[in-house]
Amino acid sequence: MAQSAYTIIDHQYDVVVLGAGGAGLRATLGMCTAGLKTACITKVFPTRSHTVAAQGGVGAALNNMGDGDDWRFHFYDTIKGSDWLGDQDAIEYMCKNAIPAVVELEHFGVPFSRTAEGRIYQRPFGGHTINQGEGMAKRACAAADRTGHAILHTLYQQCLKHEAEFFIEYFALDLIMDEDGKCRGLLAWCLEDGTLHRFQAHTVVLATGGYGRAFFSCTSAHTCTGDGNAMALRAGLPLQDMEFIQFHPTGIYGSGCLITEGARGEGGYLTNSTGERFMERYAPNAKDLASRDVVSRAMTIEILEGRGVGPKQDHIMLHLEHLDPKVLHARLPGISETAKIFAGVDVTKEPIPVLPTVHYNMGGIPTNVHGEVVRGASETIVPGLMAIGEAACVSVHGANRLGTNSLLDLIVFGRAAALRAKELIAPNTPHAPLPINAGESTLNWFDKLRHANGAIKTAEIRLKLQETMQRHCAVFRKDKILTEGIKQVENIGHMVSDVQVNDRSLIWNTDLVEAIELLNLYQQSVVTIHSALNRTESRGAHARDDFPERDDENWMVHTQSTLNTNGSVSFEQRPVHLYTMTDEVEFIPPKKRTY
Ligand SMILES: Cc1cc2nc3c(=O)[nH]c(=O)nc-3n(C[C@H](O)[C@H](O)[C@H](O)COP(=O)(O)OP(=O)(O)OC[C@H]3O[C@@H](n4cnc5c(N)ncnc54)[C@H](O)[C@@H]3O)c2cc1C
Repeated sequence: MAQSAYTIIDHQYDVVVLGAGGAGLRATLGMCTAGLKTACITKVFPTRSHTVAAQGGVGAALNNMGDGDDWRFHFYDTIKGSDWLGDQDAIEYMCKNAIPAVVELEHFGVPFSRTAEGRIYQRPFGGHTINQGEGMAKRACAAADRTGHAILHTLYQQCLKHEAEFFIEYFALDLIMDEDGKCRGLLAWCLEDGTLHRFQAHTVVLATGGYGRAFFSCTSAHTCTGDGNAMALRAGLPLQDMEFIQFHPTGIYGSGCLITEGARGEGGYLTNSTGERFMERYAPNAKDLASRDVVSRAMTIEILEGRGVGPKQDHIMLHLEHLDPKVLHARLPGISETAKIFAGVDVTKEPIPVLPTVHYNMGGIPTNVHGEVVRGASETIVPGLMAIGEAACVSVHGANRLGTNSLLDLIVFGRAAALRAKELIAPNTPHAPLPINAGESTLNWFDKLRHANGAIKTAEIRLKLQETMQRHCAVFRKDKILTEGIKQVENIGHMVSDVQVNDRSLIWNTDLVEAIELLNLYQQSVVTIHSALNRTESRGAHARDDFPERDDENWMVHTQSTLNTNGSVSFEQRPVHLYTMTDEVEFIPPKKRTY
């Protein structure tokens, strides 16, 4: 048996937060200030988490720019952006709490850009409007175009100040669940010295981010492999709404690096090969600032109909050269640099070649507004387990997330999870003993993978998976393409079983890390592509050529998908919450979505 071959170190905490991105750090800070003994575990150094790359801003209706913004407009825009798949009670909670949450960030020390009066600077963003589309709102609170960087560093400093305990460059493998379905902790591998660690906790908070790397062209970091989602699947828990993948309109052609929507917020616009500002045809009111699914589809149609730019007519141009260089310097310094490095473009003189690129996962681990993981139509709470951030599906983003609402989701629900934990757990409550074989089955697959003697290298399988997902689960989908994609993903499953790991050591074994991340990406890809075939309508980011209309009668429901041990996927549906938490806002009935 594998277990005896490994050094296992046991730890006990009130709370274990897995992940040190914006969500994980906000939760860790809240847990520490509540007096709970908290460990934060992360596979990369905290300030290297993908949140550091967030550019454009965090949404809150502060009305600092005097545009008359109100959180109720934010509430409406988010529901419309979600194509009515978002839960309206959760959206109310997020939009209302956005204002104190951003003010709190300011007090923590986030260096936001400022207006002349010294208030937090706010810029327009896609789908952000005043009074249900009457005008464009300035709602994105920005620290130049490095907002995520500013937030993440500040939160990390606050966590250090409150003496959070960090386990850095520890790679979590699996949850430890007991027979009653309660989460009791997790098993992690210390990359530096090769030891294994069993963390016992009254609550585990998964804050492991998205899985953009399941696709060939994405804006997310190489570390975005959705490990927490895969851990939930392996624990027999469902994931929710995995068919909804956001393509950001402006990834740099070739590299996929993001050019923030804030670039269009500051006045940038898109053109096709004829030089036409084509968004005026697709979204006469919001134009280039329609929501992301709408702009990505319009760009894809322009390319498919032969109006793409370049020798292969396969991309679109983003123009910023008409903007005042001073504005570019003050408000968009990061993307100016990125465009220079990755496209060789001087943004003050020429347009940037761009293409819709995978950017965000609306789906994830289903939770309630307190961050507690729930399952099934009855929303039964999974005891001892929470999920927050991009790994979670509250669901506030529904079928399409609005720009700036993810950073907001991190801080609002990171805080909410800590408030809930404070109610549920008394500091230093003793732990019941772990099941005798806790972590054993995980160690068995870990040991097998470490000694895997197959024929195919991880990088080869990963590329095949990414290309398949990019081709078969893209901006436009249909039965034939998805069904073929499922077959190919199944084949990739056989390749995963035949993976070759050459490094047998336990210390800094990146070969093994990548093999585990591949397994995680593969398991999420299976549920994603099956969920996409399963949903026979078009809604938000999920556009089916063969079912072009939204079908509220049959599909105003969340998809919950479980990965069975034989590799098949089972589905359950959960109704969308078409109600609010308080009477401060009224539920917004579904209507046709135009911009
Ligand atoms: C380029 C880019 C720009 C963006 N700009 C914006 C923006 O302007 N506004 C906005 O609202 N949103 C933006 N987004 C989206 C937003 O930044 C992300 O959705 C969000 O930062 C995710 O945060 P998170 O805390 O959930 O996860 P992450 O920041 O991805 O952190 C995940 C954490 O989990 C840890 N982890 C994962 N797996 C393991 C494991 N197995 N073991 C141990 N630790 C593990 C990692 O080490 C990391 O600390 C942007 C995204 C990208 C990619």
